[in-house]
Amino acid sequence: MDGIGYGWVDYPLAPRPFHDSLQGTSYSPFEVDTPMQDYVVRLMEDVKAKNPAEPEFHQAVEEVAESLVLVMEKHPEYRSAKILERIIEPERVIMFRVPWKDDHGDVQVNRGFRIEMNSAIGPYKGGLRFHPSVNLGILKFLAFEQVFKNSLTTLPMGGGKGGSDFDPKGKSDDEVMKFCQSFMTELHRHIGPNTDVPAGDIGVGGREIGYMFGQYKRLANEFTGVLTGKGRNWGGSLIRPEATGYGTIYFAKEMMKTRGETFEGKHCLVSGSGNVAQFAVEKLLELGAKPVSLSDSGGHIYDKDGIDSDKLAWVMDLKNNRRGRISEYADEFKNAVYTPTDATLDHNPLWDHKADCAFPCATQNEINAIDASNLLKNGITVVSEGANMPTTADGVRQFLEARILYGPGKAANAGGVAVSGLEMAQNSMRYSWTRDEVDSRLQMIMADIHGACVDAGDRFGTPGNYVNGANIAGFLKVADSMMDQGCV
Ligand code: NDP
Repeated sequence: MDGIGYGWVDYPLAPRPFHDSLQGTSYSPFEVDTPMQDYVVRLMEDVKAKNPAEPEFHQAVEEVAESLVLVMEKHPEYRSAKILERIIEPERVIMFRVPWKDDHGDVQVNRGFRIEMNSAIGPYKGGLRFHPSVNLGILKFLAFEQVFKNSLTTLPMGGGKGGSDFDPKGKSDDEVMKFCQSFMTELHRHIGPNTDVPAGDIGVGGREIGYMFGQYKRLANEFTGVLTGKGRNWGGSLIRPEATGYGTIYFAKEMMKTRGETFEGKHCLVSGSGNVAQFAVEKLLELGAKPVSLSDSGGHIYDKDGIDSDKLAWVMDLKNNRRGRISEYADEFKNAVYTPTDATLDHNPLWDHKADCAFPCATQNEINAIDASNLLKNGITVVSEGANMPTTADGVRQFLEARILYGPGKAANAGGVAVSGLEMAQNSMRYSWTRDEVDSRLQMIMADIHGACVDAGDRFGTPGNYVNGANIAGFLKVADSMMDQGCV
């Protein structure tokens, strides 16, 4: 561990504040020499002992704990009520068997999960991820992040996450439906519009939400807003599909405003080519930027001419209807170059192109320390995270030290869950807002989240540090609610 607190101003508790490294010296090894540093070290030892083999969960907790040192010092009441220790422990973990039959009539068995992490400020809310890499630790990290993110949206939503190691890639629609029905057959007894409201995430889009909603309705015999990301004809909100991608760009726009900058003419690297990436590109185009890359797990494309709206429409058809691979982009658009993923490399070549802004929109830890250093070397001044925790801890430190505009996922990608919250509100009223109404609410929420991060960063002595800002602002509302509700 390198140090405590993602600070770049004189930080009263840290013996060697990070600005030392800004002046060219490298980090000193971490030493436990204040009570608060000791608190984080002991907390992390405990987290690692109790949750072995969950590195992503440890990473997410450690980042938050380091930021919260700034709060715990001023508010010993949170420490004595063990608020952070309670937030780290899920309120409930549900793990279940998901059997289904493939197109050949063979039985397949997957594992399903729902992590009901924290309900202090509202019903559990968070996506479902279907991807072969899904395991308990990954979902716990996502559920933990979700608690803070949902709090930042200003809407009354607790945090949860779920999913399965099922891989929808290469499956027929019928197989996906059978899997979704089996998954929901167990999940339905644990969720409800006032209890837990799942949504989509990696591998779970409109098709999967539709199959799961159908099965829920059949089992529960009621039509309620139990899932978000629903189709327009059956309770979905306008702008929900666009919300995470748009929100990430709105957040970046707010950050850029603080330095008098706009997107006009900016070259932008985008990773992923799913829901978040597609709508991030759409909004970048609207704001006059030039997106130049996209990726999937097979590799990335770099298009020096820019991905214009016609090319984006082609990608949306490729990914959402034909369910093809991003490599096909380079066959279709001859000036683009496709680079396949090379697992033997120690970095991702996608992040080694010259550009002004970067939007990681694929998956966790897709920017490591070498990638972060390449991005900075190539002139990046804005990073806004569409994905959850796409940057490793060492990468984050480099962004903070370089003082670029760095928007961490739990703030920058909160637009998706925010519009999910708006979908829940519309469902309870049995009413639909127009596209413009939802979009302007989304923009307002992203501006408010940005403001909350800036205020908290300032108030706790690390101005301009959106990591501390997001962690602290997200924590305070949940912590105060937990204090009000007693030891539960
Ligand atoms: P999609 O499934 O629509 O797209 C995911 C994209 O990321 C695909 O291009 C996929 O490629 C790529 N990808 C996934 N895993 C890997 C991997 N291990 N290595 C390389 N590429 C990978 O998901 P979303 O766009 O919805 O989600 C993207 C990110 O945004 C995730 O981190 C998610 O948690 C986060 N997020 C999503 C929200 C939403 O509303 N959807 C809300 C907030 C955050 P391939 O098809 O080859 O797997």
